Amino acid sequence: MSEFDLVSAKVTGNLAQVKTSIEKAMRRANRQPDDVTLVAVSKTHEAGTIRHALTAGHRVFGENRIQEAISKWPALRAEFPDIELHLIGPLQTNKVPEAVANFDIIETVDREKLARALANEFKKQNISRPCFIQVNTGDEEQKAGISPKDADKFIGFCKDLGLDIIGLMCIPPLDDIPAPHFALLRKIAARNGLEKLSMGMSGDFKSAIGQGATHVRIGTAIFGNR
Ligand SMILES: *Cc1c(COP(=O)(O)O)cnc(C)c1O
Repeated sequence: MSEFDLVSAKVTGNLAQVKTSIEKAMRRANRQPDDVTLVAVSKTHEAGTIRHALTAGHRVFGENRIQEAISKWPALRAEFPDIELHLIGPLQTNKVPEAVANFDIIETVDREKLARALANEFKKQNISRPCFIQVNTGDEEQKAGISPKDADKFIGFCKDLGLDIIGLMCIPPLDDIPAPHFALLRKIAARNGLEKLSMGMSGDFKSAIGQGATHVRIGTAIFGNR
């Protein structure tokens, strides 16, 4: 087999395996397998590798850097027009116009200045994009996200600005058991009437599904190590 075929077989096989694991976890949680969206996280992987997942029929992807997304995705979108690209990394306000132009869903709204910049940009371009609010469930100093204690107020602030907030997103602390963080995110979402929960990565998506994840963001298990 050529290198191309090997990479293709690996990505296609991994993707099928991940989908099967997700389905099993959903059944175990007494949930409908269709009620969760797999966001395939393709950061650091080149367009050629991503194309194998597209050829296998996958359409929902996540990237964490604007410039990298701009260098890869316009060409892929020309080939596969129904792609849905999620921004899952930190967003600086000066990058908001590019983020809005290149991503379909923004998962990392986490502060008032950014919420205002997004609202202004949507108005200016006369468009809207569904957004998630990122919650720093572990209150980690170095991590992005609104603190859980400020979340209710911030969700209200974003809604008042007219942002289309569909749910919450979190990345639990590396060294913690993730389930309590997922449960906390679900609780904050429920009391604010938000339906979507973006939580769970390669190492903890089964736990996240048990706690109600509607979006799991999986990179390594599909594309390999970065
Ligand atoms: C990289 C990344 C992921 C995917 O992590 P894996 O462990 O490779 O599955 C998920 N969410 C965010 C925010 C990321 O930056």
